[in-house]
Amino acid sequence: METEIYWKAIENNDARFNGAFVYAVGSTGIYCKPSCSSRLPKRENVSFFENFEAAESEGFRACRRCRPRNETVDPQLAAVLRACEMLESEEAATLDELSAELGLSAAHLQRKFKEITGVSPKKFAEAKRLDRFKSELRRGRDVTTAMYDAGFNSVSRLYENVSRKLGMTPRTYAKKGENMMIDYTVAECELGRLLVARTAKGVCAVAFGDDTDALVRNLENEFENAAIRRDDAALKEFVEAVLANLAGRDRTLDLPLDLRATAFQMRVWDELRRIPYGETVSYSDVAERLGSKSAVRAVATACAANRVALVIPCHRVVGKNGAPTGYRWGVERKRALLEKEKRV
Ligand SMILES: [Zn+2]
Repeated sequence: METEIYWKAIENNDARFNGAFVYAVGSTGIYCKPSCSSRLPKRENVSFFENFEAAESEGFRACRRCRPRNETVDPQLAAVLRACEMLESEEAATLDELSAELGLSAAHLQRKFKEITGVSPKKFAEAKRLDRFKSELRRGRDVTTAMYDAGFNSVSRLYENVSRKLGMTPRTYAKKGENMMIDYTVAECELGRLLVARTAKGVCAVAFGDDTDALVRNLENEFENAAIRRDDAALKEFVEAVLANLAGRDRTLDLPLDLRATAFQMRVWDELRRIPYGETVSYSDVAERLGSKSAVRAVATACAANRVALVIPCHRVVGKNGAPTGYRWGVERKRALLEKEKRV
């Protein structure tokens, strides 16, 4: 969450940022777009949301003056904000990697980045790394751990420390599954079709859909450089475990995982795995548990990036009023899952 950049945008009524985020004012219950000409709220009353739906799901109402719904974001601004996120989480992201990922030339990206943030991508990354380091130390980490966690040493070492629990190997995935073998199967379940896919290390996808072809296409797009084949027998055990969980016969679903993730996503997913069966928490609860109250939007984004339905139970994260907001596999399925878990 680029809160400093966002706050500056609000101070300047900067219309370039309309569509990139909305801000809500706790003391009034109203949310606005960045260019709104209403009086500048106190910084401590402001929270930021990726879009108006997220603000409304937390109970905020749209401002009558600036009409903040349905703004479209300038794609170049979106690219710069995405670059900010990548620089915060992917310690090794270079300008070339960013420009390849975002489809902008390095020179153009560099210029746009500086125009919007006021600093170069390199300076930005350095500042973020230092921030992380300081906050790790404040949380009582020893210096060595804090350094690794902040990305000062090798990325592999960092992930080794943080991610053992989830079995994640982020760098293997950097090239969209290059040199990976993936087996998958599709089964019927009470929520439609269920796709489960695995690598040699663990499950890499659990997805629901209405249509087998579309599910397989998604998998192929996500891992476009991997060798993918259907193997029902190889997935039998995993599918049975998922179905047992879905039916409420088995409340824990502890499968080996092989997932790509940033360090922040891993922390969020790890937290989600602690939410007991049948219970729900809000996005801001999760942010608070991670020790950063203002990370609500980043938490929602991490939930949306989950590739393994049920195994990482992102369906147990709901809006502040308890409403089942956004779900990668359809909000109706989320509602059905939550109702089922409450009944069983
Ligand atoms: Zn407004």
